[in-house]
Amino acid sequence: MLIVSEETCKEVIGRSDAFKAVESVFAAMSSGDAYNFPVIREAIGHADALYGFKSGFDKAGMVLGVKSGGYWPGNMAKGLTNHQSAVLLFDPDTGRLEAVVGGNYLTAVRTAASSAVSIAHLARKDSKVLGMVGAGHQAGFQLRAAAEQRNFEKVVAWNFHPDMLPGLGKVAEEIGLSFEAVSQEQLGAEADVIVSITSAHEPLMMKDWVKPGTHIACMGTDTAGKQELDPALMVAATVFTDEVAQSITIGETQHAIAAGLIKESDITPLGDVIIKKHAGRTADDEITLFDGTGVGLQDLAVASAAAKLAQKQGKAIEAEF
Ligand code: NAD
Repeated sequence: MLIVSEETCKEVIGRSDAFKAVESVFAAMSSGDAYNFPVIREAIGHADALYGFKSGFDKAGMVLGVKSGGYWPGNMAKGLTNHQSAVLLFDPDTGRLEAVVGGNYLTAVRTAASSAVSIAHLARKDSKVLGMVGAGHQAGFQLRAAAEQRNFEKVVAWNFHPDMLPGLGKVAEEIGLSFEAVSQEQLGAEADVIVSITSAHEPLMMKDWVKPGTHIACMGTDTAGKQELDPALMVAATVFTDEVAQSITIGETQHAIAAGLIKESDITPLGDVIIKKHAGRTADDEITLFDGTGVGLQDLAVASAAAKLAQKQGKAIEAEF
């Protein structure tokens, strides 16, 4: 059995490994080779914590396992990350535990890889301006991964807490992109690609602010009640997601579905574009929208890649179990 620590995950998994793992598992989901099991998420009635499991099986990649963890809002005061998780991987042939892998860093890279895969497959090739809505922990990971997908020249950003924006500006500077803090309206008017990654519970970007041809990766909404976009955008856009069942219940489309603006059949899994079952973007003035809700199979895919790389590089702890 392997133990792969948080630090080791950071050493062995880069953005391109995460991109490949997430793209492959989205394809496997659309081919019927991989499926997510029902998600459990409960308030435990202690420390204000939310705790749960995300699990699944990828028959194509032979990855079986579970990510367990959640959100402890008091952790920051203790010098710890609020989101805490670990992944257990099991041998699909025998059920034996194969690896315990740190899940915190991997959650950030797999979430960034998810929006990056959507940009790679759906954004206009000539996209020049990247719009960032949000500037929290995930935003830097999102910015770095998104920036690699097109020849961006500039980042425009808005955040509910403006004091957090200089931190994101530093990330843009590190990767050689100019950075400007703007209003939401200006962001919509300038951006060719928009990534939203906030914990908002109301629309931050309205339909009329977004220009034709934009690709939006909506990544923050992963719980019932959260919301980042005007539901009217779901009608204006061609809508994609990681998993339809999750999108309509805990993802961004929950609001447009509840309002009767769109139907479940209006939402296409991104994997269908990857395996060429769906054409994806078909016009330069089309708005494409990816609702990235975060599925367990993404976690398992990157954790499996981390375990393999760590073992190969002699960085995993081997333990009898
Ligand atoms: P964070 O706490 O570090 O940052 C929160 C962000 O939301 C900041 O930009 C903050 O200014 C903004 N925000 C807070 N309250 C707001 C409000 N009322 N209105 C608008 N913006 C507000 O969190 P994070 O780790 O960066 O995560 C951001 C979001 O992404 C969370 O909702 C988290 O649950 C979600 N998330 C999604 C996935 C996925 O797979 N889709 C994975 C990880 C995290």
